[in-house]
Formats: sequence, structure tokens, C-alpha cells
Amino acid sequence: MYDAIVVGGRCAGASTALLLARQGHRVLVVDRSSFPSDVISTHFLWPHGMSYLNRWGLLDQVTAVTPTHTVIDIVNDGIPLSGSVPTSLLREHFRDLHGDDSGVVQSYASVRRRVLDQILVEAAAKAGAEVRTHCTVRELITEDGRVVGVRGRAADGQEFEERARIVVGADGRNSFVARTLDLPRFDERPRCTFAYWSYWSGFDPGRGQIHRRGRLGCAVVPTNFGQNMVLVWGPSEWAREFRADVPGNVQRALDFVSPELGELVRTQGTREERIYGTLDQSGFLRPLHGPGWVLVGDAESAKDQCTAIGMTHAFRDAELASAALHRWLTGESSLDEAMAAYEGRRRSQNSAAYYDYVCTLSEMRPYRHDELQLFVALRGNQEETDRFIATHADIAPVSEFFQASNLFLLNDAAKESSAGYSVFDDFAATSRTYQQNLFA
Ligand SMILES: Cc1cc2nc3c(=O)[nH]c(=O)nc-3n(C[C@H](O)[C@H](O)[C@H](O)COP(=O)(O)OP(=O)(O)OC[C@H]3O[C@@H](n4cnc5c(N)ncnc54)[C@H](O)[C@@H]3O)c2cc1C
Repeated sequence: MYDAIVVGGRCAGASTALLLARQGHRVLVVDRSSFPSDVISTHFLWPHGMSYLNRWGLLDQVTAVTPTHTVIDIVNDGIPLSGSVPTSLLREHFRDLHGDDSGVVQSYASVRRRVLDQILVEAAAKAGAEVRTHCTVRELITEDGRVVGVRGRAADGQEFEERARIVVGADGRNSFVARTLDLPRFDERPRCTFAYWSYWSGFDPGRGQIHRRGRLGCAVVPTNFGQNMVLVWGPSEWAREFRADVPGNVQRALDFVSPELGELVRTQGTREERIYGTLDQSGFLRPLHGPGWVLVGDAESAKDQCTAIGMTHAFRDAELASAALHRWLTGESSLDEAMAAYEGRRRSQNSAAYYDYVCTLSEMRPYRHDELQLFVALRGNQEETDRFIATHADIAPVSEFFQASNLFLLNDAAKESSAGYSVFDDFAATSRTYQQNLFA
């Protein structure tokens, strides 16, 4: 009998197992994969993602093999902004969510999942969790309407059965736990992006860059093994045409969104791996907990990749859920109270607003004129640029940055600094061009 069985051993699952095991609980974590291995995901971490790793004592292992940087470039329709999340907002974020701001670091990195997930799973094992890989859960054991354990097939092909006081579903967007419990999906957002990426050597972009132009985006970030992760994305309506010539269209998209980056990749880059891609990134939410089970990470909240937040959210869930479960497992609170506390933190006003922000961005509409004016207004105003970056990364509340009074103030302050900076010579013509499928 375990205290917790965690199904899925990556960002959400290994982290939850690690934190519970460190608090002395008996934890079994099972994953059908073996490690090290990649998943269909790029792997950019914002400063709060890096801060969680630091809080757990794992950041040094990551940065020993991964380049980091402290400033990020965001270029929207040619309007460049550079900055970083203010440390004060990061600290506030951790105090609000977790009650303390220990371990906060101001850095960004892109860590291959084969590197990061291995570090997490090894840390969970070191903390005392029992880790079984190549081990697939195929059934939930329920008694009196309550989940009490799992059955499945182990690495040696043998059937296994294990029981626990709680089963944690950390098994990703297609969660077996959620499907078996027939959990509903709500606030579904079918419109999303397609995304294709690979790894190039031969050039040094310096630091992470994120570009948007019209309905397309691209990013380049230095990652492990002396390589750069280069990613392009666009609206799912264009996916079919894009797929007709993936390598050609990756280069075409780069050339369109950032001609400089396109040139760099074409003339200096050597692609080291195949191109990976995904079309299935629709957003949805699921219930967080029920009798004998709780969900963490993508299993509960699946979102488009366009703000690169899922791994950091998985870490956040691991800390919140393990803290709540610890209180219950040690008798400090009832399970209902513990789960209500977890739900309270997770279903805040801002988490709903941020989910909406991601889903709206993932439709990849061309920016409106007033949105572009806002980016112009931010130029030269470092404090507000940093606050915008913090908002985009879910560190500062969406509702605060985008509230009307703030936007008016910004526009007012920008009147002089942005005078003469026209967004486009002919906005209507540009906007029409942006609607045309570049790959058709
Ligand atoms: C194209 C793309 C790009 C992305 N880029 C970023 C980014 O740059 N930054 C970022 O923060 N996020 C990014 N994300 C999101 C990120 O990948 C997810 O949010 C994150 O992987 C969620 O972690 P998880 O642990 O919840 O689930 P997963 O990483 O999906 O892990 C689930 C695990 O459960 C296991 N499992 C499933 N079913 C079973 C079963 N029945 N039995 C045993 N094991 C099982 C699987 O083998 C898997 O290892 C991206 C996603 C996509 C699709």
C-alpha cells in the first residue's frame, strides 16, 4: 500500500513524486516510457520554471549542461522589445501561490526533455520514490466509487496491481486516468497552432528570440549539445498546406517572420535531427480532483504551446498538489479541505484569464492596429515592457497589464517617444496580405 501512485513521470509526475517522497511519503511513480527520452514538445522555461528547479535543488544540474540567459527578445511585426521579468514580480508571484519566495532566479533556458525529465525522475528516485519505467497503467481499481489503485503491465510483460491512498494523474493531455474516469472537458478551444521544430548547430543567436509576423511565429533558443532549437508555428487552418513540404515551409516561414533569422539558419545552420511537429494542441480543462484521484499538469489543463508555459505550469501544480496532499497525509487536514485548497489556488481569477489569453493568442489572428500601437508604446518604457513580458509568461496578472487605465496611461506616456513611428505604411493592405495562406 503506497501513500500515492503517480501515473506519468515527467514534468508534472516526477516533480510531484519527488516532493511527496522528500516529505517522507511512500510513492510509486510509473511511466510507460523509459528515460532519457523526448516528448512531442519544445522546452523553453521562463524564470518561474527555472525558480521551481532551483527551489528543489535541481537547477545546477540543469545549468551545468544548458545555456541560460537573462534577457529575452520579443519582436511583433517588426517592433522589437527586449527585457526580463522583474524579480519583484517573480517574488510576489511565488509568495501569492506558495506562501514563500525562496529560490527565485531571474534566468531563461531551453532544456531538452531527454535531459530535464531524466534529472527529475532520478531526483524522485533519490528522494525515495519507487520509479517503474516501461510500465503502463491499463486499469484503475475502484471500490465504492473511489479510486484505490492501478493495474497494468510492467516492463517484463507481467501484469501488476498496486494500491494507494491517492492516485495522481500526471499522464499528459490524453490522460488515461481522466479518460478512464470519463471526466468531462470544459472550456474547450479547438482553434490552436500547428508547430514544427528541430535542432541546428553552426550559429549563435546569443539569447532566446521570439518573433511574430502576421499569422506566423518563430523562435530560436540555444539549447543542449551546442545546438539551437528553431521553432515555427501558425494557425491550424494552414496546417494541411504546411505539411505538404515541411522542410521547405519551415524555411519559408522563417524567411517571412524574421528574414535575418531565416538567412542565419539557411547560410550558417546545419540541421542535426529530423523535424518534429504536432497539430493537436487544442485547449481544454478537466476537473482537478475527485474520490481517490487528483490531476496535475497537462492532464488537467491542456493549452497551446504559443506561450511556452506548460512545463512551468506542471511544476506549479506539483508544488501545489504535493503541499495539499502532504497536509492530508499527515492528518493536518481532511482530503476535502486539502483538495479545496489546491483547487482554490489553481482556479483563481487570473488562471482563467491567462487560459483565455493563451487560447486567444493561439488563434494567430494578425495583431490589430491598437495592439501594435501598444507594442510601439512600450518601446523605451523598460518597466512596462518587463511587466508585459511577465504578463505574457503568467507571472503578473493578465487583468492588471491589460486593464484600460493602464493602456491609456501607456499610450499617453508614449505620445512623444513613439511619435513618427508608424506601424505600417498601409495597415489595411498589410493586414489583407497577412490573411493569405503563405503555404497554399
Ligand atoms: C509543440 C509543443 C511545444 C511545447 N513547448 C513548450 C515549451 O517551450 N515550454 C513549456 O513549458 N511547455 C511547452 N509545451 C507544453 C509541455 O510539453 C507540456 O505542458 C508538458 O509536457 C506537460 O507535462 P506533463 O508531465 O503534464 O505531461 P507529459 O510531459 O505529457 O508526460 C506524461 C507522461 O505520462 C506517461 N503516460 C501516459 N499514459 C500513461 C499510462 N497509461 N501509463 C503510464 N504512463 C503513462 C507518458 O509516457 C508521459 O511520459 C509544448 C507542447 C507542445 C505540444
